[in-house]
Amino acid sequence: MIGSSRSPKLRAMAGAFRAAMSRSCDDIPAEWRAYPKVRFPRTIRHPGGFKVSGAPVGTFLRSALLIVGQKAFGRRYGGQDFYERVETDLAMRIMRAHFHGGAPKGAYCCKPCTLAVLAVLEENAIRYFAGPALARDVRRLIAERAWRFETPANAKMLAWSLG
Ligand SMILES: [Zn+2]
Repeated sequence: MIGSSRSPKLRAMAGAFRAAMSRSCDDIPAEWRAYPKVRFPRTIRHPGGFKVSGAPVGTFLRSALLIVGQKAFGRRYGGQDFYERVETDLAMRIMRAHFHGGAPKGAYCCKPCTLAVLAVLEENAIRYFAGPALARDVRRLIAERAWRFETPANAKMLAWSLG
């Protein structure tokens, strides 16, 4: 059901997620069920044609999980504990980046993490946030080359995120 999404961006996220987990995401592998105690891969090759490595891998996978989970189970993840834990964890991380890290609203951590989270905001996949409004703020940030976007982002990653 996930692979049937018509949006290329969502398909790509589902693809990244599947590639990272190397099996169908209809079935959450055992090693992911203990989330947030998950060991993320060091690098992933994103279907958008770019490589993600280091800390942003976790952000890309969390974002992919939420988008894929929402597609599969509905807006509130069908109340599934696993997805709700990912949702709450990512929300807390984004809020910490704003309140303690001085990140502009909606931005998170660094360029790659912000570009990964933009898709989640646009899908309104975090119930605690006004996602679409924050997504507009983030797009403005990118367009105005503010904050971390003073320096150019990876072109393919940017193209994928702005989709
Ligand atoms: Zn980051």
